[in-house]
Amino acid sequence: MRNFSELELDSELLQAIEEIGYERPTAVQTEAIPHALDGRDVLASAPTGTGKTAAFLLPMLQHLQDFPRKKPGPARVLVLTPTRELAIQVADQARALAKYTSLKIFTITGGISYDEHAELLGKTQDIVVATPGRLMEYIEAERFDCRAIECLILDEADRMLDMGFGKIVERIHNECRWRRQSLLFSATLEGKGVRDFSQGILNEPVEVNAEPPRRERKKIHQFYYRCDDMAHKLALLQEVLKEADRTIIFVKTRERLAELRDQLASMKINCCWLQGEMAQASRNNTINRFRSGDINIMLATDVAARGIDLPDVSHVINFDMPRTADVYLHRIGRTARAGKKGTAVSLVEAHDQSQIERVSRYMKEDVPERFVEGMRPKHKKASTVKKKKKKDTKKKDAKGTAAKKKKVKK
Ligand code: AMP
Repeated sequence: MRNFSELELDSELLQAIEEIGYERPTAVQTEAIPHALDGRDVLASAPTGTGKTAAFLLPMLQHLQDFPRKKPGPARVLVLTPTRELAIQVADQARALAKYTSLKIFTITGGISYDEHAELLGKTQDIVVATPGRLMEYIEAERFDCRAIECLILDEADRMLDMGFGKIVERIHNECRWRRQSLLFSATLEGKGVRDFSQGILNEPVEVNAEPPRRERKKIHQFYYRCDDMAHKLALLQEVLKEADRTIIFVKTRERLAELRDQLASMKINCCWLQGEMAQASRNNTINRFRSGDINIMLATDVAARGIDLPDVSHVINFDMPRTADVYLHRIGRTARAGKKGTAVSLVEAHDQSQIERVSRYMKEDVPERFVEGMRPKHKKASTVKKKKKKDTKKKDAKGTAAKKKKVKK
């Protein structure tokens, strides 16, 4: 699809889309929006970065415009997300898209006092974006009314299941049994988990596969530097940062994060950071400062960076290699979003060499090695040496066997 006007959306929504700067619908938007506008249930596999949020928000906003409420009342669209950060992002995006409408959007998440929620629960709401645990508390206390919910959306359903929200989401689904439509978005539909779960929730869904990972990945320029030791690693990091614009640096632990933060401070490099067990206010503060461009370098551990959408990330740096290829993909997926270009650089110590090779095999894509002149590593590449040895022994073996065979023939 070439542009949004081909979708049957109101001019208020098209105007907001234009203002935000989306030029044309992404794959998942092109696929999912028409079915959702038809009132069908949708089962979509679409990882973050594919434009999935607008893919479910736009048809919902259009529905609310098509059938305006007659009197004030409780929420009509409920979006469930695994984390509070994601809930806030989804609500922000909904507000931006609904800018020229009079629709009211709220979030209900943990980390916010009951008093603050009490105020909003008394108000008219059109869309509520919530995390399952906190919402369930309100439902049980009869402070949130699900009877007016017309559409239920599960965002990042795979992650909600991973985080153990399955049972609660099922209960919320039951509470919303009067609804007319459900949409389920998941990074992947592989494996039985999400698919089985979706059967109890969705009604004859249309399946939509954004199938973007490989295509999206193409826009990520990936390479790695080999590092001898910490000092070499830091020097290479400094080199990468010279070229980088907006960067996330991934580290393996909180201790490592603290160490690197101090190192960067001593190099007079300004950065913000996200780590587990941070107060909600400082998490929000960090995210906002990075989002607004106030600070362009963010340090993060994998757990802390879960579910956070940070637009316009130009570089992802693996200061520490991730434990699995899957986490690698997840990390680098934070750059090159929605058609933009991005770079992913890994700083690989001798003991990480096999890991970067595993990642290449997993992606079926070569991650090449690069060098910075004057900063070449001193150590030899471990696994190549091993491979050569193996090959040599293989050759010898082959020769040996051939010779044996000849002997037998004779
Ligand atoms: P999401 O997959 O929903 O997390 O979206 C990833 C990023 O893409 C967000 O920053 C969106 O604002 C942006 N985005 C969504 N739809 C489009 C579009 N059609 N064109 C360009 N960017 C988009």
